[in-house]
Amino acid sequence: LEEVVPPQDMMLLKNAVFAINVTETTLSCFRIRTSSGTLNWIAANVEKSDDPKHPIQMELSDIQSLKTAGTSGVLDPMTGLLNKKSITDLAIEYTKLPDFHFYFALLDIDHFKRVNDTYGHKRGDAVIIEVAHIIRDTVGRDGTVGRIGGDEFCVLVNTPPGKEEDYRDFARMRCEAVCEAFRSHYTGDDGKYKISASIGCAIFPENGDDFESLYKVADKALYESKHRGKDTFTIAEPGEVSDN
Ligand code: GH3
Ligand code: MG
Repeated sequence: LEEVVPPQDMMLLKNAVFAINVTETTLSCFRIRTSSGTLNWIAANVEKSDDPKHPIQMELSDIQSLKTAGTSGVLDPMTGLLNKKSITDLAIEYTKLPDFHFYFALLDIDHFKRVNDTYGHKRGDAVIIEVAHIIRDTVGRDGTVGRIGGDEFCVLVNTPPGKEEDYRDFARMRCEAVCEAFRSHYTGDDGKYKISASIGCAIFPENGDDFESLYKVADKALYESKHRGKDTFTIAEPGEVSDN
């Protein structure tokens, strides 16, 4: 696989395999370089078996056609994440569900222009794809990730039943995990770029009972994270709502 899978995808596939125990399965998506040089999307259903002869079994599905279909309106063609419209529509649907709690986080890569300026736009694109995988893998099955443009992403996570402060603790832990995933991935030790993310997070319905209000509060929280020096997250205050 190492010969045909780009290194950043290979790393994520390996991480997915390392994260499961024997007899467990996981689903991971990665790209394979075809003989014509294009990258095609593959979904792998990976199982760690207790058979020592075949410790890892993978069922591969070619999902390139889904990804291509996705570019016609649902997915962001570069990262394969939901595009701005799809993630917005999903968030709007969430706000209409009775007794539903979720957090809405906006994430923006710090100093991303530097990556473009130092290594070129092409490398910049590769970093955006890598970052998309890191966020998606950290958020895992509990949430949905979208790219809302440039170096900005959006995360929706359904919060398990609990009290208001539990929702906040849950969001805090998850946002910290994403910041930490960036720190452990981009250590800068290899002499390459050190990349971090800033996050702003609003809790539904506490910080806004419709999409626009929630977005404004999350955006303000993101601004606060940038203002506090970046590489951090801000959870909107309890009861904080947008002005209009
Ligand atoms: P900050 O720390 O405040 O977030 O600053 P920043 O340098 O990350 O800049 P900002 O978030 O304001 O703008 C994002 C930049 O990302 C603008 C543009 O040069 C670059 N960008 C946007 N879309 C793409 C893309 O698809 N590919 C590449 N390579 N660069 C992009
Ligand atoms: Mg940025």
